[in-house]
Parts: sequence; C-alpha cells; structure tokens
Amino acid sequence: MTKKKSISTKSKKATKYIFVVGGVMSGVGKGITSSSIAKLLQARGLKVTAIKIDPYINVDAGTMNPTEHGECFVLKDGLETDQDMGNYERFLDVDLPSINYMTTGSVYQSVIQRERNLGYGGRNVQVVPDIPEEAIRRIKLAGKTAGADVVLVEIGGTVGEYENILFIEAVRMMKSDSPQDIGVVMVSYLPVPGSIGEMKTKPTQHAVRTLGSSGVAVDIIIARSPEAIDKKRKEKLARFCNVNLEDVISAPDVSSIYDIPILFEKENLSERLCRRLNLSCQKSSDLNKWKQFVAKSKKVKTPVKIAVIGKYFSSGDFVLSDVYISVLEAIKYSAYALGLKPEITYLSSVDFEKGKKLSDLNKFDGVLVPGGFGKTGIQGKLKVIEYVRKNKIPYFGICYGMQLAVLEYAKNVLKLKNASTEEIDPKAKDLVIGVMDDQKEKIAKGDMGGSMRLGQYPARLEKGTIAKKSYKSDEVLERHRHRFEVNPEYIRSLEEAGVVFSGKSPDGRLMEIMELPREVHPYFVGTQFHPELQARPLQPHPLFTSFIKSAYESK
Ligand code: GLN
Repeated sequence: MTKKKSISTKSKKATKYIFVVGGVMSGVGKGITSSSIAKLLQARGLKVTAIKIDPYINVDAGTMNPTEHGECFVLKDGLETDQDMGNYERFLDVDLPSINYMTTGSVYQSVIQRERNLGYGGRNVQVVPDIPEEAIRRIKLAGKTAGADVVLVEIGGTVGEYENILFIEAVRMMKSDSPQDIGVVMVSYLPVPGSIGEMKTKPTQHAVRTLGSSGVAVDIIIARSPEAIDKKRKEKLARFCNVNLEDVISAPDVSSIYDIPILFEKENLSERLCRRLNLSCQKSSDLNKWKQFVAKSKKVKTPVKIAVIGKYFSSGDFVLSDVYISVLEAIKYSAYALGLKPEITYLSSVDFEKGKKLSDLNKFDGVLVPGGFGKTGIQGKLKVIEYVRKNKIPYFGICYGMQLAVLEYAKNVLKLKNASTEEIDPKAKDLVIGVMDDQKEKIAKGDMGGSMRLGQYPARLEKGTIAKKSYKSDEVLERHRHRFEVNPEYIRSLEEAGVVFSGKSPDGRLMEIMELPREVHPYFVGTQFHPELQARPLQPHPLFTSFIKSAYESK
C-alpha cells in the first residue's frame, strides 16, 4: 500500500500507456479503434503517440507478401511496417518514427545482439523477463521520443494466442510496476448468429477471462458487433467481465472508419479513459475539423470513377483491398476536398493478360497503377498503360506504376522492342529500368530485408510542370521503397521523345517524377516515390488532388 501511494504522487506527470488488445477474433478493427482513441485524446489537447506490436518473427513488414499481411507502410525514417501505422499517422496527422513499431523478430534480434555484445554482463538471458523487458524499453522510449502524455500500444493478434503472450506479459509487468499509469482496452466481437438472431456475449467473457489468466484485467471493452449493443448485454458484460457499465463501449459496424472517433466520443470513451488514468486535460475533445471532414465526405454526390490496377488482390475466394489501403484513402481525401464522390474499382492486371477488354477502361475517369514487385501481372499493366496513354485517360503511376510507364514509352514510342526492367528480365537488351548502384551489392549478397531505398528523400521540381504546379513548391520530401530506377543511359532519348522528368533527386541522378506535357495528354504522371503514404484526411496530397481533378475535368 505504501509503495502504491508514493508512486501515485510521482505519477502526476507520468506518461500514461493504453494497451489495445483483441478478443475473440482478429480483423474487427483494433487498428482503427487505437487510432480513434489516440485521436480523441489528442483532441483533448494531449500529446499522443501510437505504437504497433506485430507478433511475427519477421523483423519488419517488408519481407511479407502483401496478400498475407496487407499493405507495407513505410515510415519517414524508412522502416517497413504494418498498415496500422498508416492509420495512426492519418488519424493523428503526425509522422511516426521507427521506434513506434516492433515485431517479435525485431525484439529478439535486439536481445540477442545485446547478449552477443556482453550487454547482459554474463548472466543467463531468458525469454522471461528479457523479451518483455526489451518490449517495455521500446514502448517507454517511444513515449519519451514523442514527449507523449499518452502512448497507445496496439498488440497484434488475439488474446489467448501463443504468439503475443510475451507482449501481454509486458503489459502485466508494466501494470504491476505502476497500475495507475496503465489502461487496458479490449476490442472484442459480439456475434449475432443468424440462427439465433441474438447478440452473444459469451465469447467476450471468455476472452476477458483468458487475459485475466495472464494477470491482466480489462478496463474498457469495445463491443464490436453488426449492431449497437443493448443495455441488457452491456450489463451482462460489465458483471461478468469486472468492468463498469460505462466502460462497455458500443461499436456497431459503420459505413466510414472516420465516424468512429465521433461515435466513441458519444459513448464518453475519452472521458472514461481520462478518469481511469487520472489525466488532466481539456474537458471534451475538440473534433470540429474532423467532423467537418466527415460531413463533407458524406455530402459529396458527383462521382469520379477511378480504376486501380493491382495484382495483390486474391486470397482464396476473397478480394483483399487492404493491400492498397493508403492509395485508396489518398484518392478519397482528394476527391472529398474537390467535392467529388470517389468511386474506386479494383481491377486485376492479370485479367488483362487473360483477355479482359482494354476498352473496359473507357468507363473510368482515371486509372492508377500502384506499386508492386516481380513479374506477375506486369504485361497486363503495360497494356493498360499503353491504352490509357493513347486514349488520353488520366493516368497516375506510383513506383512500379511509374517505372512501367517509362518502360511502355520506351517500347512503344522509342520503339525499343526489347526494352525491359532489370527486375523481370535482367538479360534484356535495353534495360530502361535498372537496378540502383547501391543495391547491386545487396542483391549479390542476398541482403534483401530492409535494404531497399527506403524512407524520405528530397526531390527538386522542374518549372512549368504538372508536378510543380500541383505542389506549388520547389522541393518536396516524399517516402520511397524501391530497388530499381530509370536507367540514366536512357534519360536523354526519353526526354527527346517527349517524357518530362519533372522531379529529380537534388544531385540530378535519380528521376523521381515523370510526366507527359498537358498538350499531349490530360494527365499522365508517375512518381518513383509513394505519395499515398503522406496523404492525410485533413491534408490531401497535392498530386492525388491534381490527378482526381484532371480525371473529373476530362470526363
Ligand atoms: N519493384 C520496383 C522496385 O523495387 C517498384 C517498387 C514499388 O513499386 N514499391 O524498384
């Protein structure tokens, strides 16, 4: 008791930590819940940062197939992470550093490295407590780096899984050290089985009990369900899960993820958290700008039809759109800002190889080819790009989408019939897209993890170009993730044939943006970087905006 008292006087300015864990099943919106809680607390004037813990052995998300793990979100400082990091950045409108992301693999790697460097002074290094302690060290460092009042920590997976148990142990350890600084939120799922037609609380009760058996009690339950949870079931959960009635938060399915902070605020979620953690802050959340954005997104009626030509769509019989989540959101933000209703259709480039008609593309106001890797679907993408170039359909190519636009031009305008990219045909005669110099050695050594050109780099913009007019700036900083680039040997002939390289690295060596002049095409722009990673609801990306605007205008 005495110990507790002395901590609580010290804790007035202590950083608070809110852990978000999943109950019952994955995929019910832990990431959006974490982002929304972070948003609400930020809107109360608190300094908030957010961390994602992925229980994979992969050291980062860069080596995982997107069809398994969704989009790989690249942070400003270059770490390849989970798409939830993108949600946090978009909701909070901040850039997060790499200390805010960890996987089981990266935690073990640090511990093993430290042990190899005699960092443990010869003692026995153990899974417990050394692995949770490294996780705790990182969590606290992330809080300190951000100067945060509150650190949101989302733990991937579901409670009861073998994989995330060491991170749950980290929560237990932190909670036992300073219980007043730790909040635990469980995002659970309450099914309404068709045969019964009644919302069931039992799976959630089990999940809370399972977490309890790891020594961690739940403070707040987010009751995800197809419909709002009623009073009776709230009472049941409160009673059997040891939480206050007010701490069972209704979270029915909604049409837009951007509604969620607003819904949570109606349920007094931030109030409950502030009370639980004794946070001194504004009395309510100032969500005005956010609400305006949401209201606008619902008012738009005039459609703008965009096709996204991807290749990482199928997972068994299901279609995955998460792989391109940042692209999708970036399109939406710009469309809303222009007062347009985005209608986005995913088309698989592989289908165009199997005979899907290119004329189907005439239905769309704009076509976007996002980033990607490897051979699959590339011929289909090249066909699409040739078609939209010739038929003057606005085009936006991102990363691979820019490289393929350059390649298509080399093949069909420069008539370099054997042109290719080193990525798919290293022996081709004309490697218009080649491997970057500093990547050659890495590829030879098989050093492929986290070794691409990653993170933010500057680009200088050329006068009078679409890029410059869109950004209204001379130099921009954008995030990259690539091994290949436009081969400098072909730049002159491409320029002579009409390609404009409107953004270049400051030393002039790397082509960061390509475009065709407005006189020949309404909008044909490709970027070597990933602009979607920096698009934010309240700050749409200028290149997405100029693309959507041109798409709409050239209808
Ligand atoms: N595969 C290409 C490269 O590595 C493009 C990468 C991407 O689209 N992110 O350069």
